[in-house]
Amino acid sequence: MSELVPRRPSCADADDPASLPLDEALRAVLARVRPVATVTRAGLADALGRVLAEPVRSPLDVPGHTNSAVDGYALDGRALPAGEPARFEVVGELRAGAAAPARVPAGGCVRIMTGAPLPAGADTVIMQEHAAREGAWIRVGPGHRAGQNVRQAGEDLARGQVAVAAGTRLGAAELGLLASLGVAEVAVQRRLRVAYGSTGDELRSPGEPVAGGQIYDSNRFTLRALLEGLDVEGVDLGILSDTPEAVEDALRQGARHADAIITSGGVSVGEADYVKTVLQRRGRIDFWKVAIKPGRPFACGTLDGTAFFGLPGNPVAAMVTFLQLVRPALTVMGGGRWRPPLRVRARAAAPLRKRPGRTEFQRGVLEAGADGTLTVRPWGPQGSGILRSMSEADCFVVLPHEAGPVEEGAEVLVEPFTQWC
Ligand code: AMP
Ligand code: MG
Repeated sequence: MSELVPRRPSCADADDPASLPLDEALRAVLARVRPVATVTRAGLADALGRVLAEPVRSPLDVPGHTNSAVDGYALDGRALPAGEPARFEVVGELRAGAAAPARVPAGGCVRIMTGAPLPAGADTVIMQEHAAREGAWIRVGPGHRAGQNVRQAGEDLARGQVAVAAGTRLGAAELGLLASLGVAEVAVQRRLRVAYGSTGDELRSPGEPVAGGQIYDSNRFTLRALLEGLDVEGVDLGILSDTPEAVEDALRQGARHADAIITSGGVSVGEADYVKTVLQRRGRIDFWKVAIKPGRPFACGTLDGTAFFGLPGNPVAAMVTFLQLVRPALTVMGGGRWRPPLRVRARAAAPLRKRPGRTEFQRGVLEAGADGTLTVRPWGPQGSGILRSMSEADCFVVLPHEAGPVEEGAEVLVEPFTQWC
């Protein structure tokens, strides 16, 4: 009987030839987006998470003065003893922040604190633990090296050198570095505006009652959080009901107010899946299915000239496609540099099911042995709707396109969740 039933490729097939491998999909997405490139200025206090629009060159040498790296005694390295210990008279004292240091006379030294500028006539510092103090004198043995324990002016950063490159997302280290150069304000990309909404007649917002067949909308809240992590200004389009008019209205509103639009749901081949229809009518749709699990139905295109990304409705699939395809695109649009996520090797603590022909993002829990060796345990059920897996797991086990099943103990690549949360 079953031979009589026409069989067409579907989303449930492992190797639908119409599906695009993930790396090709990512290349296609990145080839279609452009940086928005509108520059504004921000004070350091408001610059966390912003993308630097122009390189910041150091206005000064860092350190500004040749200074001591330790507490000790500054002297002329040429006077260091090679054999018998030598004595140096302590002629003064210099603390960090001291100005115009005195000159060290021949045969003398200056008591110096960490960070204090080196006095003229000195190029070497003896750590205080390595000098025997004898009243107004110190005794120094052999084994020291001229120039030791000294930080040269401009050694960390020379004046005019790029301190922070354009395209850098400013974090704690960059803000401290800019402050250390006396830079109070920087040129940053304006925040990207991204409109996001959930499609589905079955969806209700948390706080509302749900009747039979209805479920709570989780994707909008996941998306809002993921967008905040990218320092994106979100425009909430709410829940879009499954009619072509509602979808079109919301998407056009998104196109008016945002640089990009993201929806979830309504991109597969069901009867209520109008996102594709609207895109075909009002814009362009670039591709439709990506060979990944979870997350096969994924749309990318433009609507009224605004970038559009249609995620699958299943919550885990929505997160995976956002992280693997949309996040790189938004990073580039925001003027940032996208770097592939860090993936490291771990041993599989159990066999993993996998069919060749798609990249799989299974959820796992990482454990580090006493020697730092990583083992990954698959997290329970791997269904694309089980959002708890994204909460309780701490990494993706990334099984490549061509790979088949994985045996217990084999090495796999894992992508820790710490990179985006
Ligand atoms: P769809 O892609 O619209 O066919 O949706 C696939 C599955 O994901 C269905 O079971 C939907 O009910 C569910 N789903 C779609 N959107 C959401 C959402 N925003 N929050 C939670 N589940 C959703
Ligand atoms: Mg739907």
